[in-house]
Amino acid sequence: MSEQKHTFTAEVQELLHLMVHSLYSNKDIFLRELISNSSDALDKLRLLGITQKELLPNDELHIRLELNKDNKTLTIHDNGIGMSRDDLIKEIGTIAHSGTQSFLATMKERAQNQTDNANAAPDLIGQFGVGFYSTFMVAKKVTIITRRAGEDTATKWESTGDGTYTIDDAQKSETGTIITLALKDVDEEDGLKDYTDPWVIKDIVKKHSDFVSYPIRMMVEHQEPVLDDKGKIVENTVPKIIKKDEVLNSMKAIWTRPRSEVKDEEYKEFYHHITHDYGDPLEIITANMEGNFSARLLLFIPPKAPFDLYYRDKISKGVQLYVKRVFILDDWKALLPEWLRFVKGVIDSEDLSLNVSREILQQDRQIQAIKKFAVKKVLDAIENIKSKRPDDMKKLWQEFGPVLKEGLTLGDKSGERILEFMLCQSTNSNEPTFLNDYVERMPEKQEGIYYLAGSSLDVLKGSPHLEAFKAKSLEVLLFTDPIDQFWLQSHLAYKDKKFIPIDKGAIDLEADADKEVADKTKKEMDEAHYKDLLQCLRSHLQDDIKEVRLSGRLTDSAACLVGDTHDLTPQMEEIMQRLGQQIPKTKRILELNRNHPFIEKLHAIHATDPKANDLEIYAKLLYGQAVLAEGGKLANPGAYSRLIMDVATKAAAN
Ligand code: ADP
Repeated sequence: MSEQKHTFTAEVQELLHLMVHSLYSNKDIFLRELISNSSDALDKLRLLGITQKELLPNDELHIRLELNKDNKTLTIHDNGIGMSRDDLIKEIGTIAHSGTQSFLATMKERAQNQTDNANAAPDLIGQFGVGFYSTFMVAKKVTIITRRAGEDTATKWESTGDGTYTIDDAQKSETGTIITLALKDVDEEDGLKDYTDPWVIKDIVKKHSDFVSYPIRMMVEHQEPVLDDKGKIVENTVPKIIKKDEVLNSMKAIWTRPRSEVKDEEYKEFYHHITHDYGDPLEIITANMEGNFSARLLLFIPPKAPFDLYYRDKISKGVQLYVKRVFILDDWKALLPEWLRFVKGVIDSEDLSLNVSREILQQDRQIQAIKKFAVKKVLDAIENIKSKRPDDMKKLWQEFGPVLKEGLTLGDKSGERILEFMLCQSTNSNEPTFLNDYVERMPEKQEGIYYLAGSSLDVLKGSPHLEAFKAKSLEVLLFTDPIDQFWLQSHLAYKDKKFIPIDKGAIDLEADADKEVADKTKKEMDEAHYKDLLQCLRSHLQDDIKEVRLSGRLTDSAACLVGDTHDLTPQMEEIMQRLGQQIPKTKRILELNRNHPFIEKLHAIHATDPKANDLEIYAKLLYGQAVLAEGGKLANPGAYSRLIMDVATKAAAN
């Protein structure tokens, strides 16, 4: 096939523009990105080689850097899996990665907020899978020559980082990839170093890629003095220049070294290497599992939730499984429960077979034991953060709380521990509270943990359901994550205290026994007094409401909606509908405030003329405002606003 010219997709062009116009002052990272890609390509080939030995090269799997001062080029070779013509178009020519859109959106948002671009990028590059494009920060032109394992033909890809790239057939005798960067001029001010200087390159490799598990080789020139027979330097002779093939990285498996001997800086670099996230981890967890099975764990809690946290199938860089220091696969699903999918790191088992497959992993007894151990260690680490670093605990909960809460829906032992870390919003303060502190503040007679769940904090804080609780200074927890709707349904308890939804069932907040009797009698009398009105309102609202009753929870508002204890909440209904489930609409209960002047007025109208037309209008008005007050959606907002205007017009005319 002859040379073809392709145009980058609009997103790539935008991305390249950002890269070419140097969005990030630490340009050195392009090398880490290239080495990382090569290392991934070598992993892939090594894995394939387990079943298809013929695909493995005769030479060792390695990466080679080549510097050419005269041509001002830097070349990186690897004998990894390589790419086909299609791979090149798919992987390099377009951005298939879901994260790129988010990357660009985040960059724009930050630019709009006038955040310094140089500060904005470090944690974004790589995390969003834009690694390769970072080469255009340092290169005028990038050429890739690559041949995929198992294929006879090679392909050349070339671009100057403008809107287009070319693809052509090429010659390459072995499998793998060669990427050549035609470097921009050195510009220290702009962060562009001389990337043909071996010292500069050695430095960058040592700093960012030391633990890559394949040798990163480079021919390095050494000056050797001329020696005489006795081994003494002969004076006034020009030293000999000899070339030596050096391995630039130590390849040390950092998790096999005792924690006391590893600097935090080294752990952080390793975290960057495996995650492509360039923030520093919030927590480093090291642990050795001993007994029937042995394994070493090096796990990290990231500083921020990655963009793909909620796209489970897209999470690629998670927990890597090694067997006796040999990388096997990256499969967080086999090694951690879903609710810990934000944890990154390495698990190295001494006992598993090197041939272990993804399918076997799911059922393997050793893996199950390792998984249990890993969960315990992560939960221990979070407990430690909670007791020693409250600010970090807040950060952790903010980023990963909604994911941790998924663990509450499973009904296993971890749930109890997750509840210990849970930070909840409350009516008491703007600062979130731990459940433990809430329970300690509870009045002695309070039976359980009062809560209200909904879609936003503002709506919840203004909810009529809170009125009686506010009046009695009772603290209510407020839950706004969609997952809350699920675990709160599973009837968990914390320290033997049930979670009590304040918008379900009947609420009676009277603690004083005598008063309770007096109030009960009064309520019964009221109920008899209002009975006919309640029935009349119900008949007007029967399509939406299953009961109209007097409320124990309102002090200011005229009405609110509540559910029966086992009813689905409206939010849960919405979630299930979004998941495509056909569920019948749950009719709710309209509760009225018997002390509200409007309710008294309605009673008077009804007493005079039980068939008065206005009663239907007022019933609809009451129902609609109860829906709105809890942040709900009206089935027909247009009809409701017309109703309000009719009533208002009539009132203004009187
Ligand atoms: P990421 O590495 O985050 O996926 P990149 O833009 O750096 O993003 O690379 C895009 C893709 O190109 C890689 O996922 C890989 O499939 C392919 N690729 C890049 N470099 C190489 C290489 N040296 N060998 C084989 N494939 C590569």
